[in-house]
Amino acid sequence: MYNIVFIGPPGGGKGTQADMVCKDLNIPHISTGEIFRAMMKEGKSELADLVRSYVSKGELVPDEVVVDVLFDRISKDDCQNGYLLDGFPRSLNQAEVLDAKLKNSPLTHVILIDVDEELLFKRLTGRRTAVKSGKIYNIYFNPPKVEGKCDVSGEDLIIRDDDKPETVTNRMKVYKDQTMAAVEYYRAKKVLRVVRGEKNIDVVFAELKEVLKS
Ligand code: AMP
Repeated sequence: MYNIVFIGPPGGGKGTQADMVCKDLNIPHISTGEIFRAMMKEGKSELADLVRSYVSKGELVPDEVVVDVLFDRISKDDCQNGYLLDGFPRSLNQAEVLDAKLKNSPLTHVILIDVDEELLFKRLTGRRTAVKSGKIYNIYFNPPKVEGKCDVSGEDLIIRDDDKPETVTNRMKVYKDQTMAAVEYYRAKKVLRVVRGEKNIDVVFAELKEVLKS
């Protein structure tokens, strides 16, 4: 049984690694950020507008909203044999609520994927997204063949609202001011495992697999 939490700074590669680990272990990948993005894409509900007003500024969506969304998702049948949480918890309160609610089936692994701040900034502000093809590029590390255009579809690449420099700066500040408190909470409980996320994707994945064995 794996009830895993990936925690770490924005742009640290949690999402990519979470996808790989979930395929490997055959458990659902639950990303609160993805759930919110789907919600915002779907339409114009009051909830979607509320979520948008926080996500577009890089701020945390209020706990009442996130906690509901998260527990609704992990109560589904596909989570009965485990899951991986990517992007939750992001504050001390969220970590405490999670522990309290999971009393009967506690977390098995809490892993911090940590990355140097300068690299994070380039990973995030350099990201360019092709909305139709779903391809993601990075102008520093993985540029498209033609500047500003998707290699596959030729469509114009966009900068996601939450990848704009001012938003990225704010997301990093939010990480330091709020999420680090959750990291310290797990460290104090002696359950925190740390994997460095600067290395290439396959090396980080191999290290995560080692950590998940014990
Ligand atoms: P992510 O894709 O994980 O970087 O999340 C994108 C955005 O969704 C964040 O910048 C927040 O605005 C919001 N979000 C995602 N997860 C949470 C959470 N656990 N608590 C509050 N806001 C969240």
